[in-house]
Amino acid sequence: MAYKLLDGRDLARRMKEAMKLEIRDMAGKGIVPGLAVVIVGNDPASRIYVNNKKKDCEEIGIRSFEYALPEDASEDQLLGLIDALNEDPAVDGILVQLPIPRHLDEAKVIRRISHDKDVDGFHPYNTGELMIGRPVFAPCTPAGIMELLKDAGIDAAGKNCVVVGRSNIVGKPMAMMMLHANATVTICHSRTANLKDVCSRADILIVAIGRSEFITADYVKEGAVVIDVGMNRRDDGKLTGDVDFEGVSAKASAITPVPGGVGPMTRTMLLKNTIKASKMHKRDMLS
Ligand code: NDP
Repeated sequence: MAYKLLDGRDLARRMKEAMKLEIRDMAGKGIVPGLAVVIVGNDPASRIYVNNKKKDCEEIGIRSFEYALPEDASEDQLLGLIDALNEDPAVDGILVQLPIPRHLDEAKVIRRISHDKDVDGFHPYNTGELMIGRPVFAPCTPAGIMELLKDAGIDAAGKNCVVVGRSNIVGKPMAMMMLHANATVTICHSRTANLKDVCSRADILIVAIGRSEFITADYVKEGAVVIDVGMNRRDDGKLTGDVDFEGVSAKASAITPVPGGVGPMTRTMLLKNTIKASKMHKRDMLS
């Protein structure tokens, strides 16, 4: 079966072009969206993510501010920085790069970010708004997947959607968004019985487990749409998804590649949320 490649790089490029124009228009009214990125410690992967976020901001005209705290930063130090950023009118969005060192309480840190600057969409206020179907800032990865599906003309209404993974940042919000898009949703996790059977009933299968090429063709129904969120670094250095692309693409009607599928969309939705935050904060200047 010929499959459609859900090309996140291409859609991200198109969305960024549109956002550039939007930002140019805002600049004409004296508004420059600002994103503050906070990194604690020296995790190399986090450093790459932060650099990419800064690059994305520069590319489209968002002002970015980086705050790097040492590995042994105290909770008071981090919370004090967040308080200052909450008050700073040049900062529309605040992102604390996760994971943070273990001695810091992640839940407490997320709650400290003012919910109207929570462009990651992780604050309980925003997860609550998402739950009741009134999202303000939806988490970037599932929001990016919804954009990919919409762009490909894939309507979730009435479809069986299986989400594998129940993390707060991907699986749970993803399931909620698919529910709001009128899919019939099943959420699976490491204790799910007969995972293969459950997955093979999915019209739309979304996988976010962090296990390299775990989902093989025998988990997938003929003609299913398959979204691979996974990003795994194999010992040989190769970046792989949670889905065995070669085997599964022979059965799927549409599938995301890794890299170049969900990843670029996650980055793009952060920019979109930051622009949204800026428009919310500066709405008096827009009218
Ligand atoms: P977590 O580790 O927080 O959650 C993993 C989830 O997968 C858990 O709910 C776990 O179940 C479930 N799981 C693990 N193993 C199995 C299994 N064998 N069968 C069924 N379920 C299983 O991961 P994240 O949600 O943060 O990330 C998932 C993947 O997505 C990672 O590879 C990550 O790198 C990637 N990612 C990619 C992004 C992108 O932009 N492309 C963004 C964010 C993440 P349980 O709850 O029972 O432990």
